[in-house]
Amino acid sequence: MISLTVDYEFDWGGRVQTAKAIEQATIPLLTCLANVGAKATFFVSAETVASTKPMLRAIVEAGHEIASHGFHHNLKYDLLSKEELKEEIRTSKESLEDALGVQVVGFRTPQFRKNRYTEETLLNFGFLYDSSSVNTSLSGRYQERQHEFGLLPEIPVSTIYGRFPAGIKWINLLGAGFDSSSHRVIYLHPFDLLSMGETIGSYTQGISPLVLAFYLARLGKPLGTVEKVARGSVTLTSSIKGC
Ligand SMILES: [Zn+2]
Repeated sequence: MISLTVDYEFDWGGRVQTAKAIEQATIPLLTCLANVGAKATFFVSAETVASTKPMLRAIVEAGHEIASHGFHHNLKYDLLSKEELKEEIRTSKESLEDALGVQVVGFRTPQFRKNRYTEETLLNFGFLYDSSSVNTSLSGRYQERQHEFGLLPEIPVSTIYGRFPAGIKWINLLGAGFDSSSHRVIYLHPFDLLSMGETIGSYTQGISPLVLAFYLARLGKPLGTVEKVARGSVTLTSSIKGC
């Protein structure tokens, strides 16, 4: 089983033009997904709703799932107090449901920063699953799996070559060496799909010429990669319901 997930957000450390990417990449992505019979789960940062509602409506009309990616993306969700986290999750779910007329039952915390209140807060607001971790041995924020209490299903993002989070950016660069997990959960950001020139500009600030040369040699068309790996994708809600 494959699930493509999309982190739909504005802020990303100020390095990339996220708003422009949403505007330019969303419709081509929807077309690509329709071509390969894929349904994706969009984790939407609710602060994007006010200015990108037509795009979000197009996503809903195409039959994809809308899930929550919090309200404000530029926060360290692992450092939020119980009350602050509750407010982010509550306002996010309400904004998305009110604006789009959908039921929001899935959550992914921004930057995989989960804390000890995340699961119980989600449970209290009626969420059915969380997708806030990565199956990897990499250290740092990806190792937040210690905050799993089994209160609701956790659907981690898969890895490639046992280490790298299965993001379209990495798959495009390194190939699709997935781990053996039976449910492949892949993720991308709209800005991963910008034109080659813009993508290079976003990711290569401050890196060595050698790495840049490697990157340039391997960088293909991100949408082509999506087409290859997302064929037949099902939403995360469908995946936990077994259909
Ligand atoms: Zn995010």
